[in-house]
This record gives sequence, structure tokens and C-alpha cells, in this order.
Amino acid sequence: MSELPYPYEAPVSQALFDRAAAVTPGGVNSPVRAFRAVGGTPRFMVSGSGPYLKDADGREYVDLVCSWGPMILGHAHPEVIAAVQKAVAHGTSFGTPGEGEVALAEEMVNRVGPLERVRLVSSGTEATMSAIRLARGFTRRSKVIKFAGCYHGHVDSLLAAAGSGVATFALPDTPGVTGAQAGDTIVLPYNDLDAVRAAFAAHPGEIACVITEASPGNMGVVPPLPRFNQGLKDLCGENGALYISDEVMTGFRTSRAGWYGVDGVEPDLMTFGKVMGGGFPAAAFGGRADVMAHLAPAGPVYQAGTLSGNPIATAAGLAQLRLLDDAAYTKVDSVSQQIQAMVSEALTKEGVAHTLQNASNMFSVFFTDRPVHDYEDAKAQESYRFTAFFHAMLANGVYLPPSSFESWFVSTAHDETALQRIADALPAAARAAAEATA
Ligand code: PLP
Repeated sequence: MSELPYPYEAPVSQALFDRAAAVTPGGVNSPVRAFRAVGGTPRFMVSGSGPYLKDADGREYVDLVCSWGPMILGHAHPEVIAAVQKAVAHGTSFGTPGEGEVALAEEMVNRVGPLERVRLVSSGTEATMSAIRLARGFTRRSKVIKFAGCYHGHVDSLLAAAGSGVATFALPDTPGVTGAQAGDTIVLPYNDLDAVRAAFAAHPGEIACVITEASPGNMGVVPPLPRFNQGLKDLCGENGALYISDEVMTGFRTSRAGWYGVDGVEPDLMTFGKVMGGGFPAAAFGGRADVMAHLAPAGPVYQAGTLSGNPIATAAGLAQLRLLDDAAYTKVDSVSQQIQAMVSEALTKEGVAHTLQNASNMFSVFFTDRPVHDYEDAKAQESYRFTAFFHAMLANGVYLPPSSFESWFVSTAHDETALQRIADALPAAARAAAEATA
């Protein structure tokens, strides 16, 4: 890797990466961490504080990944850490019900109107997998509609990409997912209600649910066009299918009630993760009480978890959610707007074609001058410019998501000093983007 034309001043991270590769496939425990999209040495982080991360080589970065969303209060927020310390002193897992999980569920239900009942799990993947199973069990139907470019975790049936055409049955996206597992998944272009209408017409009485990211952030930030989500909800209602809104990324981030708090469209089922866990493995799915009543032990659809509702994770999540009041969202939105303006100004100054898109405080930059409405639009950008931009920002102490198909995340802890560091790093990065060649 060292022959790549990027500055590698991370010998300790490189040594750790080499060690990791000897015991872990690709040296990482989640693929995007490996920097494959941008090349170079992934930074091994040793600590986080407020808006900053420190790597094993002792370099500090302004963090614009925030653990892919969860750290909306910044790293090591004193009140979250205190809640964790208090909880951990009482033991780490009991395998019984506990008050912490009730309190977290109450906090979530109180914030999100359509969330009448909620079940806690340990990852977003588990949440979407369980919601799909419940939708199938409730409707007694098998097919699922998802959208190209939307990521719902590594659930077998959802790791499927679209073929060409409107309602093509998906082929497995990865070895290990069988045709049978993917065969009930219909992948459609995002923001295309006609495609959804056609799929329902082609498969009457067969579609259990439509699952969509409430506002997608996994092909870069591509918000739903006006009335897209409402259209999905209506089509589901007309066809006896459930509308599942995946709020793993947007939940409790894009507003105190997540994306539901922005567009007000009421899903039948919703999924959550990231922010609600305060940096610990906690996630959830929930929604209509009559649908959730089909879940074991109340109903026949089985779902369970040894560590579900873990006391440390629920204490961290609850502490974080309780700190997320209106003032906190105003702050995060303002930080996000300031960074977007700075990025756009720097790129404009260097004549780099770009489009900034946001969903509340989630945002990303596409290296194209055209608006991005679906995955095909996102893939049409000049990603090689992002690679150069990314490495220049990294070299100047700003940690961006290592892919042009990811949202950037900010926190309440991003203060004037952190913003100034970003501003200082941007001119060279914009120049690098301008000079980059495919
Ligand atoms: N759904 C969405 C919208 C996500 O962004 C993610 C992860 O990024 C998931 C589901 C899967 O969550 P996890 O990584 O916790 O399994």
C-alpha cells in the first residue's frame, strides 16, 4: 500500500494494521474502516474527546464521522460517561428485565408518535432483520421492496442490488447470500413512486412491506423528494403492505423525533440504532401496537437476544437522549450549516463542480454539479476528486468518512476552534480536488 501517492505519516497505525491483518480479515471489523475506497492506512484511534479523535501516532483530528452517527454529543461527554460508570458498577449483564431498558423505551416512545411499542436489540442489522420478519409474519406475505443505494445492515435478504428494469428480482449482491434469500427482494430506484406502483401491480397480494431509509445517508445524503415517503405509505396502505421506515441513521439525529419529526409521515414499523445507544451496541424496532403484538412472547413471530436491553448500553443511550433537547438540535444544525457553507465556498473558489445535499444536520458533498436523487446519480459523481480531498483533509487534521458515498456527521461539541481547524484545512483540500485526475 505504501506506494500509493498519499502522505502516510502514521507508522504506528500502519504497524497495528499489519498486526490486525494477521488475525482479522482485511485488518478491520467492519469493511468501510479499511480505507479501501480512498486508499492508505486506516488510522487506529486511541481516544476521543468532544469533537476530536486522537490516533495511535499521537495526531489529533476534528472528527466529522462521529462513529458513523452515534456521537451526537461529541466523544466522552461527561454526563454520558458518568451514567455508564454508575451502571457498570452494578454489573454488566443480567439476562433478566431491568428498569434501564424500560426507561429507554419510554423515552423513545414519548419522542416518536408512531412508536407505540418498541423492542430493543443490539445492532441496526438486527433491527431491520427483525422488522422484516415481523412484517412477513404479520401480513403472511413474502416479498420485500427496498431501494437501490439504501443500506439496512447486512441482512441476507437486503444485501441485494437492482438489475435493470423497474421491478427486477434482485440477484445476490455478495457470495453467501443465496438466490432463495434474495429472491423475495424487489430492488427499485430510489425516489421513483411509479416503480413502486408498478411493483405492487405486478405482485398483487405478495408484498409484505416496503423498507426505506427515512432519508438515505448510505449513498451520500439523498433526501426523499417531496411526497415520496407519503406516497410509499399510501401505496402500502392501498395494497395491504407495511411501510417500514429505517431510522437507524436519522433516528434522534435529524430532530428529537428523527426524520419522522421532519416529514411527519407515520410508518407502520420503524428501526433505530446509532444515537439511541450513546456509542454502545443498542438498537430497536417498533411501531404499531397491533403489529408488534405479533412478536414473541406476546405473539408467534420469534425474536430474542442475550444482550438485548443491556444495562450499560441502555444507561448510555438514555443519558444521551435526555441531553438531546431542542437547544442541542439547534446547535448541531447550526454547526452542520456552517461546515457546509465553508466546504462549498472552498470548492467554489477552486472551480470544483459539487453539490452539497443535506437532511437536517446530516450532509455530504457530491463531486458533480447535478442534484443527486438516486443511486445512479450518486455513482455518476467524480469520486476520484473526493479521494484527493479526503487525503488532504486527513493530512491537515480533519477526519472525514473514507468514502464519497457516506454522510458526514457533526456534534454539539464542534465549537469555534474545531470549525476554524476545518476552515484552515479546506483550501488545500479543495485545491487537491481541483487538481485530481481520474
Ligand atoms: N440501517 C441504516 C440506515 C444504517 O445506516 C445502518 C448502518 O449504518 C444499519 C441499518 C445497520 O446498522 P448496524 O451497523 O448497527 O448493524
